[in-house]
Amino acid sequence: MAPRWLALLARAGQAKWPLPGCASYRPSSSSAAAEATSDRNHLIYTQEHFALRASLRKIIDKEINPFVDKWEEEGQFPAHQVFKILGKAGFLGVNKPIEYGGLGLDFSYSMAVAEELGNIRCGGVPMAIGVQSDMATPALARFGSDELKQQFLAPTIAGDVVACLGVSEPEAGSDVAVSDRNTLTKTKMLVAVDIVKLPGVHVAKKIEKIGMRSSDTAQIFFEDVRVPSKYLIGEEGMGFTYQMLQFQEERLWAAANILAPLENVIQETIDYTRQRKTFNQPILYNQTVHFRLAELTTELELLRSLVYRAVALYIQGNDVTKLASMAKLKAGRLARELTDSCLQFWGGMGFTNEVLVSRLYRDSRLLSIGGGSDEVMLSIICKYMQTLPKKQHL
Ligand SMILES: Cc1cc2nc3c(=O)[nH]c(=O)nc-3n(C[C@H](O)[C@H](O)[C@H](O)COP(=O)(O)OP(=O)(O)OC[C@H]3O[C@@H](n4cnc5c(N)ncnc54)[C@H](O)[C@@H]3O)c2cc1C
Repeated sequence: MAPRWLALLARAGQAKWPLPGCASYRPSSSSAAAEATSDRNHLIYTQEHFALRASLRKIIDKEINPFVDKWEEEGQFPAHQVFKILGKAGFLGVNKPIEYGGLGLDFSYSMAVAEELGNIRCGGVPMAIGVQSDMATPALARFGSDELKQQFLAPTIAGDVVACLGVSEPEAGSDVAVSDRNTLTKTKMLVAVDIVKLPGVHVAKKIEKIGMRSSDTAQIFFEDVRVPSKYLIGEEGMGFTYQMLQFQEERLWAAANILAPLENVIQETIDYTRQRKTFNQPILYNQTVHFRLAELTTELELLRSLVYRAVALYIQGNDVTKLASMAKLKAGRLARELTDSCLQFWGGMGFTNEVLVSRLYRDSRLLSIGGGSDEVMLSIICKYMQTLPKKQHL
């Protein structure tokens, strides 16, 4: 039986496959009609978005969260098993074309999924899901040939394969343009893995990390790998441009995905400090504690507003590179600040592996580095502010 949220979506008649940023893109009239009847308390979500989230939450509570501690301990999670469950329920392709198994909805639905995935009690599993749905596949979905999409996109959406995105190289991390070449012999650093079994592709040993432990990471070597020319996505020489376009979604996804974890950490810190007493009163009663939590909650709401505004503009067809970069920058910095402050209020307990705050303190550190470091985000923002010295290249 189709999930309830799918029926709601069908009723709303919102199925579409827009290409934000394209001159020809216009919000469809069916979408406008749905907005008119939507929940007016939310900037970008309608009752269909909330139904989608509720359905995903059930999967998270039943199929993911009960096993997260074990996966973190083991240093990996059963991606094929988890992705099959998510794929079957439609969560790996909400904004992908219907003809390849997607739901054909707009990017705001991907954001709703990204946000809900933040309720998974670690960073590694949602990150891997996001790579599959919103980082490794957008360029393929937009610019790939029908044959390529049948071969690679459809099974990715169905959860039959686990996708990865190999942008970073030993000499090309922040400077993505350096890796825009069509060489067949290179090394990809730090890739969350599931490997194409092609001759010449070698996976080096797993890399131990301070966080994101349940998502295994490895270095991949490509040695004279023969890639058929029919596998070229879009036009030759356009890879960098496609990746830059894709980065808008990746960065918004990352910012949306951190909202729930940070909210959860604040709430769990309130609960803990309310019941834990020192000097005959709950720790929460110290003004320095409750004021700080109020301040962090305010910061989190500011981030949320920025994310929603950027998404609203994006689904209307605007280029939101600047806002998406700001959201990613703020998300990374706030995650560091918030988890550090909250961990402090947990005292020694915060330094153990027993509590969510310590795991997020470690996991969310990646947000300021991966998918473009804080400094790269600042450079992009400066470019839009026209304050970047000419010699720098982004
Ligand atoms: C757990 C994990 C998973 C990852 N998964 C993937 C993946 O799936 N696919 C993939 O392609 N990559 C992946 N990466 C790589 C990640 O995207 C890169 O680490 C990131 O882009 C930064 O590149 P780099 O590590 O080479 O840092 P570098 O480019 O060496 O930069 C190091 C530091 O220098 C500073 N810096 C760099 N440029 C500037 C500048 N212009 N101005 C000022 N300061 C600057 C920044 O502080 C930066 O953090 C992953 C990384 C990790 C840790």
